[in-house]
Amino acid sequence: MLIGVPKEIKDNEYRVGLTPASTRELTSRGHAVLVETAAGAAIGLPDDAYVAAGATICPDAQQVFARADMIVKVKEPQARERAMLRPGQILYTYLHLAPDPAQTSDLIESGAVCFGYETVTGPGGGLPLLAPMSEVAGRMSIQVAAANLEKTAGGMGLLLAGVPGVAAAHVVVVGAGVVGSHALQMAVGMGARVTVLDKSLERLRQLDLVFGSRITTLYSNTNSLEEAVRSADVVIGAVLIPGAAAPKLVTRKMIADMQPGSVVVDVAIDQGGCFETSHATTHTAPTYIVDGVVHYCVANMPGAVARTSTFALNNATIGHAIALADKGWERAISEDKHLRAGLNVCKGKVTYEAVAQALHLPY
Ligand code: NAD
Repeated sequence: MLIGVPKEIKDNEYRVGLTPASTRELTSRGHAVLVETAAGAAIGLPDDAYVAAGATICPDAQQVFARADMIVKVKEPQARERAMLRPGQILYTYLHLAPDPAQTSDLIESGAVCFGYETVTGPGGGLPLLAPMSEVAGRMSIQVAAANLEKTAGGMGLLLAGVPGVAAAHVVVVGAGVVGSHALQMAVGMGARVTVLDKSLERLRQLDLVFGSRITTLYSNTNSLEEAVRSADVVIGAVLIPGAAAPKLVTRKMIADMQPGSVVVDVAIDQGGCFETSHATTHTAPTYIVDGVVHYCVANMPGAVARTSTFALNNATIGHAIALADKGWERAISEDKHLRAGLNVCKGKVTYEAVAQALHLPY
């Protein structure tokens, strides 16, 4: 199969669909890989590295789209890219179609076979192609919180770890899923005092077994949240109710009761956010202040650490990319129900029920 990797064109997107190592996995199995020039250059993956892995470099996206049997990307295709898709061509990338009627209608029109990373399921449950980005955002949330506690960033001038004789900061993590557990791991590692809240007692039990007395676990209700947030220097918002907007668990009143110069990081902002005072921000202007509390609400946090995110994503996506290339999409999905779950649009039809329902399209 001929696999094409265009350079991402979404604003400030530096990730790339295949790393040179993933390229080598494909070329060593007899597939051809066509990479647009400089596709990985911004994150230290130069054209030479792709050539060494057996790829051919191509001067522009038009040629990649015109020649490839399968396009491997990171972000949802932009209008300019959608116009280049061909009937029967495989598209393998993040799509997030439910809130995006324009993209969905273009993909239907294209006749392409479109897999969305975000709906591929895993044998152990969960969404394994989404999880690496939650791991990145969870770990990054503490790094971002620590930086914003500094005076020049609007924070109260607090060192997360404290020093001997001076108390460490209190970090409260709301939601102990993938984002939350990675956040708390970093917070513990950096020496903060950590409290974690979740509705799932099973999650709290697992974390208690791993971290013991180094963290406090609390069943999440209005009372426990109110008390934890009041004494927090940092709150990480990491809840998810699958398929729904994030619940506004932390109210404006709770935020107003925090110390001025405290920091909240709403990782769940891509689902609308779990603080009443949150609105989405960008990497160019990531923070704003409400009632003296610094808010960081960037909806695509992994984009800031594009190199790490690219490797993490490739680790999760390459297996199915190989299956699609080796077997063709029809056989690959007939043999793997988890990959089948990733098929969102196929040859002019929506094939993912939740997307069809959200956009009132036939399924
Ligand atoms: P997850 O499903 O692994 O975890 C969510 C957790 O929230 C679960 O443990 C669940 O029990 C808990 N929860 C649900 N209701 C709760 C409540 N009322 N109180 C406390 N906990 C509650 O999800 P995840 O992968 O950790 O993702 C969390 C959020 O982060 C999602 O909205 C995801 O889209 C988002 N995210 C954002 C970025 C970004 O760049 N901003 C990146 C990755 C993920």
